[in-house]
Amino acid sequence: MVELLSESVLRLVYLVSAVFFIQGLRDMTHPRTAVRGNLLSSLGMLTAVGVTVLWFDVISPAVLIGGLVVGSLIGAGLAVKVEMTQMPQLVGVFNGFGGGASALVAGAELVEYRIEIGGAFPLEMGIAAAASGIIGAVTLFGSMVAAGKLHGVVTGSAIRYTGEQAVKAVLLATAVLSGVYLVVQPDVLSTALQGTWVPSYWLLVLAASVLGVMLVIPIGGADMPVVIALLNAYSGLAAAGTGFVLNNSALIIAGTLVGAAGMILTVIMCESMNRSLANVLFGGFGEEASSEEMEDIYEGNITETSPEELEMLLDTADRVVIVPGYGMAVAQAQHAVAELGQLLDGDGVDVEFGIHPVAGRMPGHMNVLLAEADVPYDKMKELEEINPTFSQTDVVIVTGANDVVNPRANEDDSSPISGMPVLNVNEAGTVIVNKRSLSPGFSGIPNPLFAEDNTYMLFGDGKEMMQNVVNEYKESN
Ligand code: NDP
Repeated sequence: MVELLSESVLRLVYLVSAVFFIQGLRDMTHPRTAVRGNLLSSLGMLTAVGVTVLWFDVISPAVLIGGLVVGSLIGAGLAVKVEMTQMPQLVGVFNGFGGGASALVAGAELVEYRIEIGGAFPLEMGIAAAASGIIGAVTLFGSMVAAGKLHGVVTGSAIRYTGEQAVKAVLLATAVLSGVYLVVQPDVLSTALQGTWVPSYWLLVLAASVLGVMLVIPIGGADMPVVIALLNAYSGLAAAGTGFVLNNSALIIAGTLVGAAGMILTVIMCESMNRSLANVLFGGFGEEASSEEMEDIYEGNITETSPEELEMLLDTADRVVIVPGYGMAVAQAQHAVAELGQLLDGDGVDVEFGIHPVAGRMPGHMNVLLAEADVPYDKMKELEEINPTFSQTDVVIVTGANDVVNPRANEDDSSPISGMPVLNVNEAGTVIVNKRSLSPGFSGIPNPLFAEDNTYMLFGDGKEMMQNVVNEYKESN
């Protein structure tokens, strides 16, 4: 069957795969079509991998099918088992494997070239392999540290030490110089330094691997989602580099798309937090709130409420906005929240969900959870859309959100979240904040919203509290 395929058919299949990738990415821009987008992109990748393996006679169809079955089982198992709150680290591990695979394939291609053809590598092959080796190895080891920090198996604190920059500079210089050697003089001292196994390439990979660890270790755990988005972009670039080594258009296109998408995501995340990428990478974000500062703001100014009182407020409200945050994901409160929305909507109350772009721990986190709980897409409003409506809103229910509703971002220039666009929930008639305690969110700073006159704290686990409110509402309506 393979022999029947001509080279042009192979290229045509790659083109079709590329169309699937691009349409898939397009579909992923909206929750309604995101699942289809995921399937389309996966189908594109399956087609590209399948046709490549068969065309180049890499492995037999039986081994290909066996690999697909094993891989699918592992993937399906992970998809079922991994919690939504653990998604960033899973993505990190996947990126890491992508980067590692690119570095290994580029190296294997160099070795094969030495064995089959021998002598100097073509210039473009040497450059692409060096780039792929450096970026791929940094991605693999950087992603493993980032995923470990998010998962709590590597310390989340920023590890800093004297000479940190010098260590990184030496590692980078070693990797780059090995790469230059590979590109410029691949033939010189061919038996000793550039034998069949191309030692300069593996030295480059080794230096870049240690560099990957050293680059991520000094960044605080709280910034890991941004680091993972950046490493996602790197994994794409490494794949594109390997695409050039192999002269494989499907890999070049897929890698470039991943690289560009990852970079755009990184920029969106940084802009939504009003921080530069340099600040994320070198700034050591996240501070410990001092207990005196917390006392100053909260002492004597906190008013508690209960599910019964909230239910009474809802009975008289014409417009309600629900603002979810990371704690809603932790509590898995999305179904209770969605049910409350449906009940209110059924009674003619104007209900909407206000979603901050970085609420949760990754972009789109809240939208995915709410969509999973059947909240209609037209009820989910973005920051720019919902902010002007708070002054005409009777009740805002903030559940498991903290930083994204912190008015300090607008008021205090010295705050770490200064300038970050926030949801101005304090403009509403009454604000109910549901969380377990007064402890700070991701940024580590106190939130004066909790102490405002029109704010009432509903202390407790998000799922339990929202379910209690639903039960109260059902009983009295
Ligand atoms: P925050 O991290 O600011 O606050 C979450 C709150 O949830 C905590 O204060 C916690 O308070 C509460 N909580 C935790 N568990 C529960 C529970 N079981 N029930 C009820 N409440 C709970 O989250 P936000 O969503 O407001 O803000 C997101 C933050 O993450 C921002 O600072 C953002 O910059 C950052 N970030 C987001 C990224 C993204 O892409 N989305 C990427 C990188 C960073 P308590 O312990 O008292 O319950």
